[in-house]
Amino acid sequence: MSGGLAVVQRATTVSKPQLTVDLGAVARNTRTLAAHASGELMAVVKADGFGHGATEVARTALAHGATRLGVTSLAEAFALRDAGLVVPVLSWLNPVDADFPAAAVRDVDVAVPSLAHLAAVAAAPGRQKVHLHVDAGMARDGAEPTEWAALCRAARRAEQRGEVEVVGVMGHLGCADDPADACNACGRTRFAWSVEVARAAGLRPRDRHLAATAATLTDPRTHHTMSRVGAGLVGIDPSRTTALEPAMTLTAPLVQVRRVRAGTPVGYGHDHRTTHATHLGLLPLGYADGLPRVASGRAEVLVRGVRRPLVGRISMDQVVVDLGADGAQPGDTVTVFGPGRDGEPTVAEWAAWAGTIEHEVVTGIGARVPRLVRPATYLRRLA
Ligand SMILES: *Cc1c(COP(=O)(O)O)cnc(C)c1O
Repeated sequence: MSGGLAVVQRATTVSKPQLTVDLGAVARNTRTLAAHASGELMAVVKADGFGHGATEVARTALAHGATRLGVTSLAEAFALRDAGLVVPVLSWLNPVDADFPAAAVRDVDVAVPSLAHLAAVAAAPGRQKVHLHVDAGMARDGAEPTEWAALCRAARRAEQRGEVEVVGVMGHLGCADDPADACNACGRTRFAWSVEVARAAGLRPRDRHLAATAATLTDPRTHHTMSRVGAGLVGIDPSRTTALEPAMTLTAPLVQVRRVRAGTPVGYGHDHRTTHATHLGLLPLGYADGLPRVASGRAEVLVRGVRRPLVGRISMDQVVVDLGADGAQPGDTVTVFGPGRDGEPTVAEWAAWAGTIEHEVVTGIGARVPRLVRPATYLRRLA
């Protein structure tokens, strides 16, 4: 069984599941976005940089055109400060009892979407830099237009008392993925009105920002003084207008390979039966690692340069691939998704198989998958 021994050696020592993050792609995407933006570029690195590593994506974006960082929670902002990043950071979604005193100490700007938030921020020691946040028409985060004038007046009074400094006004578009959607015009109009109301209240917000990735790429009328881009940095273009580079590749070794007859049931519930005699390979990745279970029966992977279907249900930790008549060896590396240059599935295809968007796939890769970050050395040398 010397052949078998060799196989065991390959499987245990050569490979493991791996999520490779290509910071070169992040660098090039940042440059593309910066070339489109009329104003500053804020790199949005929430949710661990859309699953790519917040500090790595932040550093790369800052080296290639971004001038600031944006995140959702204060905890995410503090993590960037802990990592030694000193550029302006904005955090825009916090409960009223968030640690605003720490935000002031650590020089993190905060978004203020309501009078209650303004009161909490103003009560904290220090002169907190705030961005008043208007709901530009999606009934999600931000102040309602009916509350906006009162919020601006209260912010101006707090500013005069030295409690806050209103440095920005921000909004977010609900339908920018579709540049033709009529809601975009409503969002632009509401945002322009919000800035006027803020000015009329005596505020002088120098950062006025509405656009995320899609609007940055498709509509200069939304750019104002800054664009907040997240998805685009990691190669996701929700507007599908611009060639960006996916930055993630997910691979795993085949753990086991077996030969089976036609009619062999595969996996939980026996959802799948082989139609021919074939080889089945076992991959040590499942829904706990971020493979959407709902993609069972549809998804494919790349094995030895050929697309092969995943068969049976995706389990928590493992899934089976139909390797066909040729088979493959335990230890062979399988590409689950990547940029697509070698024929491997893309994150966009996985999203389609799962009935979701690319964002959910890339932010869903589990902590158990080891990460390998490839530096953007090549571009840095050119820069
Ligand atoms: C996530 C987010 C962004 C970034 O959006 P992308 O489409 O990923 O570029 C910008 N602004 C706000 C308020 C966000 O929540």
